[in-house]
Amino acid sequence: MAKSPTTRRDFLKIAALSGASAGMFGGIAGATPTDDGQAAPAPKVPRRTLGATGESIPILLLGCAQRFDIKYDKLLHRAYAEGIDYLDTALAYEKGWSHKTIAPFIKQIGDRKKLWITSKGEGRGGTVAAYMRDLDLCLEQLETDYLDLFFMHALNDVKFLDKPFLEMGAKMKASGKTRYFGFSSHGSQVVALLEKAAKSGGIDVIMFAYNFGEYGNLELNRAIDACVEAGIGLIAMKTQKSVPADQEQVVAFRSRNFTLPQAKLKAVWADERITAAVSHINNTRKLRENVAAAKSPIALSMDEFQQLQRLATVTAPVSCRGCAEICESRVEGEVAIADTLRFLMYHEAYGEPEKARRLYRALPEAARRIDGIDLSRAAAACPRGIDIAARLRRAQELLAT
Ligand code: SF4
Repeated sequence: MAKSPTTRRDFLKIAALSGASAGMFGGIAGATPTDDGQAAPAPKVPRRTLGATGESIPILLLGCAQRFDIKYDKLLHRAYAEGIDYLDTALAYEKGWSHKTIAPFIKQIGDRKKLWITSKGEGRGGTVAAYMRDLDLCLEQLETDYLDLFFMHALNDVKFLDKPFLEMGAKMKASGKTRYFGFSSHGSQVVALLEKAAKSGGIDVIMFAYNFGEYGNLELNRAIDACVEAGIGLIAMKTQKSVPADQEQVVAFRSRNFTLPQAKLKAVWADERITAAVSHINNTRKLRENVAAAKSPIALSMDEFQQLQRLATVTAPVSCRGCAEICESRVEGEVAIADTLRFLMYHEAYGEPEKARRLYRALPEAARRIDGIDLSRAAAACPRGIDIAARLRRAQELLAT
């Protein structure tokens, strides 16, 4: 979730919202006396049904692209206590350390069935054998016998919904190594992938980039409808449509009830076709803010929706959607445009400068070089109209040293 420095006003909003939601469900202390005078359990994050799987999952999912404390991770345990029993991880997250540091938490909970664990493999080389190896490696690193859901990670080509891969998914499920199968996607082929999955069958769940900036996207909305019709469970990621904080302040978000990150989550949950939103929660302040929004019975007002739409319009030119094949194929050289803009987002929007610098410096030198490279064709093709040269120069200034 985008970093939003907590102002006193935001702090009061989160506190008020926590109180309002607790009051709605059970008093300001999170518990209320029952008829027999016993304290009722504190309210949990609400749940929805995940497509035709029939499984009930929380509407707020913990994004685990991070390392955890193997002795006792406060964030994981607090999230679990709030009802967030769904962890979204991947082989690629922290080079396997997300998995390895979730493994002790699974043991601490003591009953594997109390947790939902989704992981993803990139299937390097794009073969069935590679995905099968990835699934085994997920289980090994997480020290568990099965996943609840295995995703082909970050798909951007409909060929991965051809028969061999759908048969692979069926085989994975039959082996008992995963209960459900699907894919994640946030590139330029999201619509095509959703459309094909709705027709092909064999896909239980899709996690895809979806946020307040997509309301007017007719093709995407039709593809979402087709998936819902086909019984595919839908999970939203990248709900914050993160842009630099100073850009977001161009449209000062005004709300009596919600902070801007909360409003962005509420906007996704307002779409009942979406079962849940995964959120990169990496500190207890964000956890509290996210949970308060999830539990709140207050809906976004029309004015708040309109403010978000204005924000989407204003910030489109700095909001990269990761469709690397569009811009990078139009550049002589190996410059890694999408990755660089993602790392820049970690710095500017997520407040994670160290991570951004580390990832940027790990890119091969040729992928960072922009001097003498003509980026004009790439910029002309960019669907977001991003000034790619200016943004890459900004990345160099912020991340190279
Ligand atoms: S710069 Fe534009 S074309 Fe390139 S990945 Fe970002 S949004 Fe896509």
